[in-house]
Formats: sequence, C-alpha cells, structure tokens
Amino acid sequence: MTLAATSETTAEVTDLVQRLIRNACVNDGTPASGKEVRSVDLLESYLHAPGAEMKRHEPVPGRASLVLRIEGSDPKARSLHLMGHTDVVPVTPSGWRHDPFGGELIDGEVWGRGAVDMLDVTASMAVAVRRLLASGFKPKGTLIYSAVADEEALGTYGAQWLTENAWDDVKADFLLTEFGGARFPLGGGGPKLPIMTAEKGSQWTRLRVRGTPGHGSMPYKSDNALVKAAEVISRIGRYRAPLRLHELWRRFIEGLDLPTAQRLALTTAATFDVALDRAPEGTAPMLYAATRTTFSPNMARAGVKLNVIPDSAEIDIDIRTVAGDDGPRVRDMLREAIGDLWAEVEILEEGANPASESPLRSPLWDTLTSVTQKLLPGSETIPFLIVGATDARYFRRKGVTAYGYGLLSEKISFRDFAKMFHGNNERIDQESLRLTTELWEQTAREFLS
Ligand SMILES: [Zn+2]
Repeated sequence: MTLAATSETTAEVTDLVQRLIRNACVNDGTPASGKEVRSVDLLESYLHAPGAEMKRHEPVPGRASLVLRIEGSDPKARSLHLMGHTDVVPVTPSGWRHDPFGGELIDGEVWGRGAVDMLDVTASMAVAVRRLLASGFKPKGTLIYSAVADEEALGTYGAQWLTENAWDDVKADFLLTEFGGARFPLGGGGPKLPIMTAEKGSQWTRLRVRGTPGHGSMPYKSDNALVKAAEVISRIGRYRAPLRLHELWRRFIEGLDLPTAQRLALTTAATFDVALDRAPEGTAPMLYAATRTTFSPNMARAGVKLNVIPDSAEIDIDIRTVAGDDGPRVRDMLREAIGDLWAEVEILEEGANPASESPLRSPLWDTLTSVTQKLLPGSETIPFLIVGATDARYFRRKGVTAYGYGLLSEKISFRDFAKMFHGNNERIDQESLRLTTELWEQTAREFLS
C-alpha cells in the first residue's frame, strides 16, 4: 500500500467513526431507545456502489439493521460475514474529559461513546467493504457486512432477530465481530494478540430469602429476611467456583511464551490461585473470570415499611458460566455457596444463556494469523475468550465459526482497552483504526478468493 493510500484510509475511517459516534445511538434497554436507523441511513449512503446488494431490517420503528452482500461466484466456496453493532451504552457525562458524543479528534485519538465498543470495528469494516467494492472485488465466496441494532440489550431487535427471521440474508460459514487484538500484557517475545474464539454464558438468577414478619420495635430473636439475606449475599460474594483449566485456557497460556515455572503454575490447579495473584496488575479479574464461573450479587430489595421486620428479601446475582457449567451445575454451586441457609432460599428466576465456543483452529484462524503477521511483523495470535457477551453467540449456536478480533496499535494496552468498555473517556487512536480496516480488507481478499 502506498503512503497516500494509507493516509486516505486513515482519514476515511476516522471520519466515519466520528459520524457514528455523533449519531449517539444510545441503547438504554427500552424499545424506544437506540434509534439505530440514523446510522443505518449513514452507512447505506456511504456504501452505495455497484456490486453491493443492501437490505434493511426494521422489526420495530427506529431499530434498523443493515445487511450488505457481495455475492460470490462459487456457491460452494466458503462465505464470510463481518458484523458490527451501531448502538452504544449510556454515559455519565461528568466522568468524561471531552464530549462523549462529540467525536472529537484530539492528538490522533477519536473520543466518544462507542469508540472501542464497537463503532471502531463497525466503521473499519464498512471502509474495508467500500474499498473492496471500489476495486471491483469479485470473490469466490460471498461476503456479508452487517451493521446491527440492539447488541447492548441482548440483540433482541438486532442479531437475535436477524438469525431468527432473516437467516438466509445473514448466514455464512464464518463470522467476524467484536472484539480482540489488544496486546496481552503477559508473556515474552513479540505482541500477543488474542482472537476471541468463545464467550461465557450467563445465568442471571433471582433468589428470595424468607423470614417472619414482626414489629420493628422488638427485633430480639426475630426471623428477619433482610438480615439472613445479608449473610447469603456475603457467602455468595466469598464463593469460589471450581477451577476450569479447559483446553482453550491451556492453548492461551501455551501461546504466551511464559517462563516455564509461570506456565506450569497457571495450568496446574494446586498453584493456580497463587499465580493468579502474581499476574500483572489489572489482569487478574479477567484471568479469574476466564477459568471459573463467577457469581456477583449486584442488586437486593427487602422490606415494606421501616417499622416492619421483613418476611422476604430478593437478591439478583449476575452469574457468568464457563462452558460446561451451565444449567443445573450453577444451582449446585449456589447451594454449596449458601450452605446451611439454602433451606431458607428459593429460586424465583433463572436465565438460560449457555456459553458458546468455536473451533480453536480453522481456515479463518490461519488467514487472520497470516494477515496479522503481515500488518504487525513479529506478532502472534493466541486464542482467548470473552468473559461478557456479544452477538457472536447467536451465530455460533447455528453452527457458524465466529471469532472476535480487531487490531490495536501499541498506543492502547489490554488493560486500558478493557477499562474503556462501558467506561468513561472511551477513545480510539487512528493507527488502530487504520490497522483494523486493513485487517478486514486483506482477510476478505485472502479468505474469499
Ligand atoms: Zn459491543
């Protein structure tokens, strides 16, 4: 690529991500929020070109998704789907140093909500597709690009809706979406860039703790549901689920080129927890979450009046499951955590969103690795998992091999990257935008021809 083409790509993707940020498609979980149709309008006019077939899906007014297809010449050739979401989560403006919806370019960084989650990827995919169209790209296998609504509220009007109602438009053998490619702060040699091949499940659970009502003026030996709930909450908070040193974890650790002692410590159950506490600052919560089902009691309610001893208290627990821990196993763990108070507890609600995984190695893995090594010589790709949730799960459940990836420059550390998700002062540097755009373009060219 010439220098002029490089700076042209950088300018184009910078401009597009700025405009997506300024559209402020804030999804607060209510059906009337988001209004992603504004970014669909923007992307549709940006991508309008010969060879592009575009369709929009709008299950409820304002919640639009765009699907673009470049049909392949060989129906048997493998197909690839590049998927980004256009919605973002709300902000606390007082925590920001710059306007969260200004999309300002400051010292080579674009500021604003969505800069890393994931308007950077959505924009860079669109620029890559436009470059492919402009060059008269005629792939063997079909290329799909989608800009979907509602990822931040479970994908109800976006990826979930599309996989259930427009499968023929969005199905592909392979899919790329958020997020990965931030340099992992552990291990030797060149940059270690995670490709996310899996994600944890969630089994959000509501418990009720029972008690006996009485007058608040006589608490001696009372059966107060709130007091019992406090103990239940503490026990859940202290609980450590069984360690799962699964195959993906082992491959991840092997890929890091750690000193032998550290590698062994992080792959042996007896030494794992000590090694975890010695991991570089900021990485332990993610490493812990990658190897265990986690329980975080995040909401509680009790009582009807200040002078009444409550007979009921409710606790909402954010439970995130490692593959294989879903379903009844979670219940067994809760019972173990709560111990003798289990008899006082009933489960009111239980979510069911199992973990999802794709193969650790695939033709797409190989292409991503070879393109990465061209763009960032000396770097290596390693498999890892997302401890939250993305739209990839809807596709994995239908048999699609789906990965989360991107390419970040050395300006953004893994720790900063992870902190910016749904956090304050979200921003992305222009070199990361350029690298990610070239990643998608070159991957599509190699993978589909
Ligand atoms: Zn996202």
